[in-house]
Amino acid sequence: MTHRGSAAIPPVVNPAAPLRLLLDSAALAANWRWFAQRSGTAACGAAVKADGYGLGAAEVVPRLADAGCRDFFVTTWGEARAIAAETAGLSVSVLHGVREEDLPAALASPARPVLNSVNMVARWKAAAPGRPCDVMIDTGMNRLGLSAAEAASGLLDGLRIETLMSHLACADDPGDALNGRQRERFAAVAAAVPAGRASLANSAGICLGADYAFDLTRPGLGLYGGVPAPGAAGQVRPVARIEAAVLQVRDVPAGEIVGYGGTFVAPAAIRAAILNIGYADGYFRRLGPAGAAWAGSTRCPVLGLVSMDLLAVNVTGADVAEGDWLEIERDLPAAAAASGLSQYELLTGLGHRYQRRWT
Ligand SMILES: *Cc1c(COP(=O)(O)O)cnc(C)c1O
Repeated sequence: MTHRGSAAIPPVVNPAAPLRLLLDSAALAANWRWFAQRSGTAACGAAVKADGYGLGAAEVVPRLADAGCRDFFVTTWGEARAIAAETAGLSVSVLHGVREEDLPAALASPARPVLNSVNMVARWKAAAPGRPCDVMIDTGMNRLGLSAAEAASGLLDGLRIETLMSHLACADDPGDALNGRQRERFAAVAAAVPAGRASLANSAGICLGADYAFDLTRPGLGLYGGVPAPGAAGQVRPVARIEAAVLQVRDVPAGEIVGYGGTFVAPAAIRAAILNIGYADGYFRRLGPAGAAWAGSTRCPVLGLVSMDLLAVNVTGADVAEGDWLEIERDLPAAAAASGLSQYELLTGLGHRYQRRWT
């Protein structure tokens, strides 16, 4: 199977779709350079899992490679295959490692598995003796990875470890004492286990300071315009804007409702625009109450409940007609705070119905 196998075929993209993502190459590159600079002497990689956090890994990877990124992190072998052409000659790590049924794909791929468990280590030693791999150490998150004791047990002898890594659980809170404990535990394992490079910090971890960078950092969220930690506010640039087409404009008399359940009742006669976006496009119901679209410089608040594919906004007094495009208000940290959803969920939930236009 080649990298053009069925798993790599992108979902159908309708170039005339009434919904579009406007993606900013310069902002993406600038964000990577900011994290690279904050990584000091460490190399700066990029997490491009979940289709580049929803923005499109095949478009993200070449832009980051142009900026200087050489190390990419995906979740599965299917994701590695989907960007095989774009990552030719670059380093790709598969974070979920290698199950028995992954072996054919893993052995056919230049990407490396991140070995997370004792079983995975044994499997890779048996199936691919001498082939490079990465190893994840659990330093306190209790998610994926070998314990420090397992790493010290001789289990790793004979492996060719390119990157030894661990992952921070609470890096978005610079005051959390677990950050320092994880850093110390990881430094101790890294001092004892021979590996090409050591890697600990995600976006928020990079913001914790130079002693978290080790040899290689792995930002994701911040590259795509998320604000991973207080220190990154005002530094990270938004990468994706959303515009939705107006499918209909209607006058709503006083006392009439808008949308499912009649949760909005017009207090006076208003004009509503019905936009082509809904929760199936990642505009979740929880974004509705504080949400809005922009018609030029007029803020048009959301009316009522978000539908699967539609959103009503109040365009009273604004110059809005059927066929216009309105920009959806979208400040990731503010939307996350208002909705209780994480910035990660807001990015990865975008769905597949957008035209994606990179500038
Ligand atoms: C997703 C992920 C990253 C990137 O994290 P961000 O918080 O998005 O910067 C880094 N390392 C691992 C192991 C991950 O799973």
